[in-house]
Amino acid sequence: MSDILYFVIPCYNEEEVLPETSKRLAVKMRQLMEAGKISEKSRVCFVNDGSKDKTWQIIQDLHAQNPLFSGICLSRNRGHQNALLAGLLTVREFADMVISMDADLQDDIEACDQMIDKYYEGCDIVYGVRSARKTDTFFKRTTAEGFYSLMRHMGANTVSNHADYRLMSKRALEGLSQFKEVNLFLRGIVPMIGYPSDVVYYERAERFAGESKYPLKKMISFALEGITSLSTKPLQIITDMGGIIFLISIVILIYSMVRHAMGATVVGWTFLAVSVWAIGGLILLSLGIIGEYIGKIYLETKDRPRYLIAQFLDADHGFDTKKPRERREDKIPDSP
Ligand code: UDP
Ligand code: MG
Repeated sequence: MSDILYFVIPCYNEEEVLPETSKRLAVKMRQLMEAGKISEKSRVCFVNDGSKDKTWQIIQDLHAQNPLFSGICLSRNRGHQNALLAGLLTVREFADMVISMDADLQDDIEACDQMIDKYYEGCDIVYGVRSARKTDTFFKRTTAEGFYSLMRHMGANTVSNHADYRLMSKRALEGLSQFKEVNLFLRGIVPMIGYPSDVVYYERAERFAGESKYPLKKMISFALEGITSLSTKPLQIITDMGGIIFLISIVILIYSMVRHAMGATVVGWTFLAVSVWAIGGLILLSLGIIGEYIGKIYLETKDRPRYLIAQFLDADHGFDTKKPRERREDKIPDSP
């Protein structure tokens, strides 16, 4: 008996790509089932992350037509990482392995055969890594490369050129569920889980249709989120900077004393003005960085739920959180 595979696919306004994505996944799943690699109970689970278009309608239709498709509807838009987490943590109970993938077909579906082979060889986590970024624009490529090298320098370990296309075993997902942080950066947390892991290379295609849901502004905030939720290196840099500035001020003190002794008491105001601005700027920057961390602590202590599931469509395990409402007439006594 082969193991149960669940695909988890976060979708935010993906009505244009879903019909094609589901078609290709259905073909792939059939192929894998016929080859005896995965169980007949395997499913494709789409997570609707509060889309404003027909995404959820399409997922519901897919589920109605074919029990291969499952769907999770979140209560509202919670962002890519939380949508992914909601999917992973919901299906982990009934899946032996889970592959997470974007909805836009940028990740090569064919690479999942290799992932599954590696899973059977004993890997708990298999990372899909892009071998080339030919299809990305020059801008996307350079900013993404800058992002990974910045992450590395800031002490946040991530697998380079790996987005969220990966296979995880049940054991790895159990591990992931024990990371309770609200400030979630999956790419940095997954390597922390440990267990045997491996890498599969694939070429990243262009988005099948629709637009990227990650404009530059979101990408920068994603990078900052990654750094501040994984590493305290920026705080250390502030301390180092403070030390260096203190040393410089001693040098300046000695210099001005020497100048004073030589009788040159008037030191240009340019120097003073520049120092005031420079140091003021550095202090503000440092306060800002420290503030980022305090903000994170604030959010962590609140311990808010990371996502709320409104409905889970699944042939065997589905549920709906909406209870039938009590009818008002039952409660209000008849008026005379
Ligand atoms: N996504 C999501 N919630 C969001 C933004 C994006 O679930 O708030 C999903 C989106 O539907 C897609 C995946 O995250 O499946 C990656 O987004 P996208 O392809 O736009 O990012 P890019 O590949 O351009 O970095
Ligand atoms: Mg994409």
